[in-house]
Amino acid sequence: MTQVYNFSSGPAVLPRDVLLTVQAELTDWHGSGMCVMEMSHRGKEFTQIIHEAEADFRKLLNIPANYKVLFIQGGAHFNFSMIPLNLATETSVVDYVDTGHWSRIAIKEARRYANVNIAASNEDRHGSYVPDEAGWKRSDNAAYLHYCSNETIGGVEFPFAPESGDTPLVCDMSSNILSRTLDVSKFGLIYAGAQKNIGPSGLNLVIVREDLLGNARVGTPTMLDYQVHAAADSLYNTPPTFGIYVAGLVFKWLLANGGVPAMEARNIEKASLLYETIDASSGFYNCPIERPFRSRMNVPFRLADEALDDAFLEAAQAHGLLQLKGHRSVGGMRASIYNAMPLEGVRVLSEFMRDFARGH
Ligand SMILES: *Cc1c(COP(=O)(O)O)cnc(C)c1O
Repeated sequence: MTQVYNFSSGPAVLPRDVLLTVQAELTDWHGSGMCVMEMSHRGKEFTQIIHEAEADFRKLLNIPANYKVLFIQGGAHFNFSMIPLNLATETSVVDYVDTGHWSRIAIKEARRYANVNIAASNEDRHGSYVPDEAGWKRSDNAAYLHYCSNETIGGVEFPFAPESGDTPLVCDMSSNILSRTLDVSKFGLIYAGAQKNIGPSGLNLVIVREDLLGNARVGTPTMLDYQVHAAADSLYNTPPTFGIYVAGLVFKWLLANGGVPAMEARNIEKASLLYETIDASSGFYNCPIERPFRSRMNVPFRLADEALDDAFLEAAQAHGLLQLKGHRSVGGMRASIYNAMPLEGVRVLSEFMRDFARGH
């Protein structure tokens, strides 16, 4: 098989070493004679797998002891409903920052359960920036403040974590968790669908401060109550066992490769290389995002001549550069360069882009 580089936004590339471990262990996990998919989620083998995954995740992000880590189903989307159901009442005001597609889906769902105040929005400049925190119009008694730290589709990333004071800070980190250092103690709740930077889809990780648990409103479905999952150590029902196993291998891979600080340094190098290629193309390519807010994970770019889009994608594909087509809502191209994308992949893409521009 020829070498390919997969720039999918999600489900996304996984570390090759992790896939090879999965392959080697597939039919016989550590001498058990079983595949992880075949094991009881309450047996001693899987208990070891989930405990190690949690311990390694805690180590990677220095998660303080007063936070629970939950492995649950339903992807990031479950949290769009769970957050207002668990952290707010019907009469609460909840503050949301709108920086793009995923912010808006979270807002739409929250409106079903609480009174949403939009504290800030970047729509005035076509979603190309993060509004300055000093100008946010926050409510006095908000139950929480929600934002999305990296807009996977738009390509806008927060270069800072907001100062929320006593208001619990809630963040959708689906597409940049573990890509940069993080002070968990600033947050009330962090959530992330696994399929960008962690593992297979269907699994969702939640980091929640313990004092925020146990307040789900009456009528909350049992499966949407964070406290139920916390009290059962993520084994209230059958969790996505294989996904947790693969996530655990990704955590071990991260630890063996210098952890989050080393990933962050590499991610800065990869993103800089790609943005420099775009900016140095004399307008052949352009990126619509204002410089300080350009995502290190998802790099959207357009060709000045859209008529070349199909030729670009075809030539890229022939070059082993896969899934570069932008989201259908914005068009153009998008290169997602998560932790598992090697620097070499970004080098090959940059070189291809320069060659394509020269040839056209
Ligand atoms: C992919 C993504 C989601 C949706 O994740 P699902 O697992 O499909 O629910 C939500 N938020 C962000 C920022 C994402 O990138």
